[in-house]
Amino acid sequence: KEFTLIMIKPDGVRSGDSGKILARIEQEGFKIRAMKRVRLSLEQAQQFYSVHAARPFYGELCSFMASGPVVAAILERDNAVQHWRDVIGATDPAEAAPNTIRKLYAKSKGENAVHGSDSVENAKIEAAFFFSGLELA
Ligand code: ATP
Repeated sequence: KEFTLIMIKPDGVRSGDSGKILARIEQEGFKIRAMKRVRLSLEQAQQFYSVHAARPFYGELCSFMASGPVVAAILERDNAVQHWRDVIGATDPAEAAPNTIRKLYAKSKGENAVHGSDSVENAKIEAAFFFSGLELA
């Protein structure tokens, strides 16, 4: 089966929506293979989002991601990467489809409740950022 790396971002943790988001994860047929709650330093947030370093919102994104704890998890399911992206919806909650996680819980394009890897290859890189091989047993 495929896996993806997801985060509940600081806004989602702060507003008390983690439990509802985790329930949705299980309703969608994902298995939680690993999970932790951590607070990223600014440097760690910059490293995680280094592909976006040239984008105008990079500074804002990294300081937001370091503003409070996140919940990171590895989810397993058939077609995990694409299915999670379908479940979370568009980056901007104003454009997200009804009943998607971002439509339900996101505040704005920046503070948008959740993250999901955009490819199987990036899922591997992002999973290794948060978890050691031992934690995947
Ligand atoms: P993610 O990678 O977090 O799953 P995504 O693939 O939907 O999100 P990207 O375009 O890769 O979106 O942008 C990464 C993240 O950067 C977004 O989730 C959002 O938090 C932030 N972001 C994107 N565009 C903007 C913007 N215009 N202003 C502020 N923040 C933004």
